[in-house]
Amino acid sequence: MDGADRDEGLPPGADARLAAWVDAHLEEVAADVAAMLRIPSVRGEAEPDAPFGREVRRALDAFLERAHRDGFAVASVPGAAGHVEWGPEGAPIVGVLAHLDVVPAGEGWTRDPFGGAREGDRIYGRGAMDDKGPAVAAYWALKAVREIYGPGRRRVRLIVGGDEESGFECLHRYFAVHEMPELGFTPDASFPLVTAEKGIATLVIEARMDGAGPARLLSLAAGTRPNVVAARGEAVVEVPPAGREAALAALLGGEGPEGTHLSARPEGEDRVRVVAVGRAAHASLPEQGANAAARLLLALARLPGLGEGERAVLDHLGRSGADLTGGALGVAASDAESGPLTANLGTLSLEDGRLRAAFNLRYPVTSSLDELVARCRAALPAGATAAVEGGHAPLRADPRSEIVRTLERVFEAETGRPATHLAIGGGTYARELRQGVAFGPQWPEDEETAHAPDEYLSVGRLARMVAIYARAIAVLAGSAPLP
Ligand SMILES: [Zn+2]
Repeated sequence: MDGADRDEGLPPGADARLAAWVDAHLEEVAADVAAMLRIPSVRGEAEPDAPFGREVRRALDAFLERAHRDGFAVASVPGAAGHVEWGPEGAPIVGVLAHLDVVPAGEGWTRDPFGGAREGDRIYGRGAMDDKGPAVAAYWALKAVREIYGPGRRRVRLIVGGDEESGFECLHRYFAVHEMPELGFTPDASFPLVTAEKGIATLVIEARMDGAGPARLLSLAAGTRPNVVAARGEAVVEVPPAGREAALAALLGGEGPEGTHLSARPEGEDRVRVVAVGRAAHASLPEQGANAAARLLLALARLPGLGEGERAVLDHLGRSGADLTGGALGVAASDAESGPLTANLGTLSLEDGRLRAAFNLRYPVTSSLDELVARCRAALPAGATAAVEGGHAPLRADPRSEIVRTLERVFEAETGRPATHLAIGGGTYARELRQGVAFGPQWPEDEETAHAPDEYLSVGRLARMVAIYARAIAVLAGSAPLP
C-alpha cells in the first residue's frame, strides 16, 4: 500500500518544491526516527532532574540538543518538556505539540521494541507512530519551512513533552513557565483532522462489604489502571466448609463478557480462590478487550451465603463492567458529533472492608459530567457512593476557527483528499491548547499499531507527514499563502 501510495504522484495542489526537498532528506529523517526509537523512554522512577525518569530525560535532551546544533533556539523544563523555536522574536506563536515518552513495550513483539530496525519501507519500534515518528517528522517539517519558505508573521514552537502517556503533567509544568501558543496542532491521533475529543472521567464507586452473611469476601483485586481494560482479577472468599461444593458450582456456573475465562479452586477448609482472565485494551476502545474484573464480579455475585447488600453491589458493578455503553451504570449517552459514551471498569480493590471500583468514562462532547454523575448515583445500590477522580474536559474545535480551516485546506492540497472531521475517545495535547486540534499521523486505511506489538512507521508515510506538516506550519506562520 505504501508503494502504491507513492506511485499515485503528487496531487495538483501539493507544493512540488517541498516534495522534492522531503525526498532529498528522507533517509536522514528515517535515521533520526530510528535513533529516537532506540531510547526506551518509558516513564520511570522520578529523580530530582528527571521527574519522569532517566530515559525520558535522555530522549528530551537528545531531541533538543540536535535542534540546537541545527541552529534553532531551544528551551526546556529539564526532564519534563521543552521546545524548539524559530521565527520573528516576540511574534505570536504557532504550537506543534508532540511527545517523546512511550507506553511500555508489552508482550508479543517479534522485533526489538527499542531497536529501531529498518525493514524495507518500515521502521519498527515502540513510539514509531506514537509519537516519536511524528515528533521527528514535525522537526524536519520545521527545517523545511526554514529553508524553503522563510520566516512569516508568527513564531513556530515545536513543543515536546515527556509525560503524555500518563497524565500530561509535563505540559502543565511547561505551561507554568512558557507562553501558551495562539493556536496549534498535535500530530498524535489520525488524519484528516480530529476536531472532537470525548470527555474523560474516572468515576470511583465505593461500597462497604460488611460481611453479614455466612460467606465473605476476604480479598479482591483486578486491573492495573483505570484507562486500561482489566485483563486479570483475583478474589478469595470464605465459605462454610459444608457449603464449599455449592459455592464452587455457583462461581463456575455463570457467564461473563465474551473472551473472559474464570477458574475457582478450594484453598484449605473454608476458602475458595477465584481467578478471572481477559484481555487488556485501551479504555477508549473497550470493545477490543475482554473485561476480567466484570467476569469476576458477576461470578462473586452468585456466591451463596453472601449478605444481600453485598450481592447487590457486586451484581451492579459486574453488570456495569460488562456493559461498555455505560447503560448498566446509568450513564449511557450519545451525540451525533462524537458518538456514544464508552465505559471501562479498569480496577477493583478491597481494603479495610471497602470495595473500590474505578470506571474510566469517555463521554460525548455535548454531555454534562455533573449530570452523568448524578445519573450514576441514582442507579447505585443502597450504601454505595460515586465520585469523580481526575479526567479531561471534552475538546470541541470551532469549525470556523483559523486552525481548522487552515489544516483542512492544507490537507486537501497536499493529499487531494477531502478533509473530513473525526471524533475520538482518546485524549491528546490538543486539549491543552487555546485553539488546537489533532492532525495525523494515522491514516484511516492503514493498520493501527500504536500501543500494540510490532509498532511501525512506513517511510512512505513519513515522507507525506513531513510535507503535510511543513505546509501546515508554513501557512499558519504566515510564511506561505493559504492553498
Ligand atoms: Zn500519543
